Amino acid sequence: MIKTIYPGQTIGIIGGGQLGRMMALAAKEAGFKIAVLEPAMDSPCGQVADIRIVAPYDDEAALEELAEVSDVITFEFENIDYEGLKRLTEIAYVPQGAEIIRITQNRVTEKEAIANAGSPVAPYIVCNSYEELVEKIDEIGYPSIVKTARFGYDGKGQQKLNSKDDLPLAKSLFEHSQCIVEGFVPFEKEISVIIHRNGLGETYCLPVGENIHVNHILHETIVPARITDETKRKAEEEAAKIAEHLELVGTLAVEMFVLKDGQLIINELAPRPHNSGHYSIEACNISQFAQHIRAVCGWPLRKPKLHAPSIMVNVLGQHVAPLTNSIMKYPDWSIHLYGKSEAKVNRKMGHVTVLTDDLETTLKEIEASGIWSEK
Ligand code: AMP
Repeated sequence: MIKTIYPGQTIGIIGGGQLGRMMALAAKEAGFKIAVLEPAMDSPCGQVADIRIVAPYDDEAALEELAEVSDVITFEFENIDYEGLKRLTEIAYVPQGAEIIRITQNRVTEKEAIANAGSPVAPYIVCNSYEELVEKIDEIGYPSIVKTARFGYDGKGQQKLNSKDDLPLAKSLFEHSQCIVEGFVPFEKEISVIIHRNGLGETYCLPVGENIHVNHILHETIVPARITDETKRKAEEEAAKIAEHLELVGTLAVEMFVLKDGQLIINELAPRPHNSGHYSIEACNISQFAQHIRAVCGWPLRKPKLHAPSIMVNVLGQHVAPLTNSIMKYPDWSIHLYGKSEAKVNRKMGHVTVLTDDLETTLKEIEASGIWSEK
């Protein structure tokens, strides 16, 4: 049953990170109240929430409390406890359901779902042990990448294999979970499509973003992606196929590789707003967070429009001080900092978005600022 949630009612968010914070800020703009479940007392979302429930994500009493205070519940990351979320769907309104979490929190079920939707994935096999990897690796060959099925992020839980000699490097990955081994894709670009869908099946994609990674962490998203219109159209088509297949409600980020000939390979999914969609806060007539709130509250979605080309740059721990020292020099940059107290190296602390009519010149200006020179 689809419900409509109105301003004044309370949206519960599982997870207190920056994605929850930006969801909360978008929701509060429209007059919703926010409750957040997060084990840390001081969290990016907790700082802007009306109600804070400080407990582990799988704490039964805490989930019940969240259900009690919330008119609708959403989540800001996929590594939440599936069983807990499933129980929550029985006592609270969780329009996104728990199934999408079960599927996307494991690379094996995620890949199967993408393939079942009719979308292309890299050739892959599933291995339950290091011995199985050694036995089966020739089915994929080299170069290839071993990835833990669970709890991988920002390149963690991955090992590239260039030859047989690299096999032992992958051994420790099997201590954490089963793994998939996939063929290395000689991609030309990485792009992502952020797609939203509401309970009525209304669907819109945000403009396709081009992602530049440094040390496996997203560094920049450039919008529009520098790909052909035909590739853009195909990318949106793939995202829509997957969203339909998953009966998506809310937000799905679809990360893809673009090959030289324009062919697309789907890399991975995230069933939530995504780092590569942050540009939409300033650059579009609807942000990924506001659209997410519309979708889970049963509101009609808005057709996204790009106001201007834009570049989003992530601010990691090592970039905070140089950015702070440079703020006065760049009045056109939108500064977002997430309220995290400790600026650890490589920790995502914030981002900067710049709208521009000249992407190449602005990319050079960002580089020349020196703020991101320490990678
Ligand atoms: P993932 O955690 O799957 O998003 O992988 C992190 C990054 O590793 C991706 O953004 C790519 O840059 C790279 N990568 C992952 N899988 C592959 C692949 N099969 N072929 C080439 N590069 C990959």
